[in-house]
Amino acid sequence: MKRICQTLLLLSVLLLPSVSTAQVRFDGNFEGGAFGSAQLLDSASVIVSPGDTVVHLSFLVNGKYDPENPIDTTLEPSANWYYFRMTGVKGKQIYLTLKDNGVARSSFSYDGEVWEHLPLAESQPRRLDKRFTRDTVFIALYNPYTYSYLQERIEAWTKHPDVLLDTIGFSHEGRPLQLMHITDLSVPAEKKARLWIHARQHPSETPSSYLVDGLVDYLLGDTPQARSLRQQLDTYVLPFANPDGVANGLSRCNAIGVNQEINFGRSEDSTVVEVRAIKRKLEELTRERPFDFVINSHSQLSESATFWMHKGSTTTPSFFRKLWAYTGLVSSLNPCIRPLDMNFSDMAPRYVEGWIWDRFGENTIALTIETTYNCYSFDRDGLWADNDNIRAFGKRTLQAIAEYLGLSLPGRYLIETPARMKAGWEPSRGDDRSFLGSEAWTAVRDGARVTYQLDNLPAGRYALYRFVAGDCIEPEGYDLRDKKTGEWMDPGVHGWVYQETVVQERDGRFRYTWKAAEGEMADALLLINCDTEDKSPLK
Ligand SMILES: [Zn+2]
Repeated sequence: MKRICQTLLLLSVLLLPSVSTAQVRFDGNFEGGAFGSAQLLDSASVIVSPGDTVVHLSFLVNGKYDPENPIDTTLEPSANWYYFRMTGVKGKQIYLTLKDNGVARSSFSYDGEVWEHLPLAESQPRRLDKRFTRDTVFIALYNPYTYSYLQERIEAWTKHPDVLLDTIGFSHEGRPLQLMHITDLSVPAEKKARLWIHARQHPSETPSSYLVDGLVDYLLGDTPQARSLRQQLDTYVLPFANPDGVANGLSRCNAIGVNQEINFGRSEDSTVVEVRAIKRKLEELTRERPFDFVINSHSQLSESATFWMHKGSTTTPSFFRKLWAYTGLVSSLNPCIRPLDMNFSDMAPRYVEGWIWDRFGENTIALTIETTYNCYSFDRDGLWADNDNIRAFGKRTLQAIAEYLGLSLPGRYLIETPARMKAGWEPSRGDDRSFLGSEAWTAVRDGARVTYQLDNLPAGRYALYRFVAGDCIEPEGYDLRDKKTGEWMDPGVHGWVYQETVVQERDGRFRYTWKAAEGEMADALLLINCDTEDKSPLK
């Protein structure tokens, strides 16, 4: 019996290659698809048990490379994005080596609509190993967010009376660059803070779109909080800065091979139409007043989310301190990012942040946020990126902007500065700690007391948080690993730390006294209504 099985197996292996190549087909011929080529490496038919034979096939899959970059000729074309279909896979054990790209836990879908992430056991970076239960399967770097899908979303969002849709220009292939202006127009513009968000300069980075999607959905919600945000913020959202790249399934460039992300410093006649249109609109919108915030949404292969903070040595120490304060706010009440995950670079005019810095300096907090395709905070046993937590991350990004700007919202009340300082406090000088606003106080002895006051707090039960300032570390390299020792430099807590739950019996004045230890700083307080608000945006 054993000998017969072995003979059968040998025969199957010898006979299979031509059959199996014909049986499994690969393609990327659909919207946003990206597939280079596939080569059969090996095949075998294994008799797992009498009457149960499984065909094993392994393929080498080559990525689809972006066109050559005609402007920055030193840049190698990228092939990060993969989004292809396999047919004829039902019941077969498929091994893929993704030669040019690949993350752990690639996304797959049997119908191209409902997506799941493969378990780690079946999908390691650049390797995939799975027995599929249906004949057709789509595999992608991350759930696609296509041009057609954005059109559906924009159609739904623009039904809201607080959204105005503007076409600010056209891409190389003639697609509109769609900018949504989201605000309550009955409130005068001069009374609002101003915010600009764009995504998909790099088309492969689909999580960056889910972040913006979650942020927009939160802002357009039918809730007192969302209404208040629309009354207090003038928000401009450009969901696709590079629609051709998205539609054509490109990785990091537009239709003619240009990486738009690094083209903001170029002259009008030496850059691409997309960047020209964005710059023109930014110029027009900032003629009278700069933006308070500019968020450039990206995604990265690293197993963490991050913000790219521009070093104080190439901006100013106080600007760097503000970046630490804002990113600290986003990192608190948020399981997707920690202060330790931050990245750092020099300010340079080729990026939108540099373009903004050269014009408006410290007046605008401009930051690139990177969501991830992988797990958060380098913890493979912890939370992995999915659409729900990325969308919640978008919501938290906006909440933190409101907190940074000192805006209270229904259910979330901010007390920026203490009402009364008793003896034992000194004003905090210097920018080595990430305090909020323009001032903070440091206790010079144990037991120094400070009283906070809010004139009108609605009755309710509140979780009370205190803003804790961390160290504004500027590392030599791009992350917080010490370049010499390789050790991580811990910047400590930056952001909200839970103190206690308080009860406000009736609408009216709220007072809170806090006793500090020597060296602690008195900064803002946040009160979150326990009955109406989730403490974590993920719940
Ligand atoms: Zn990017």
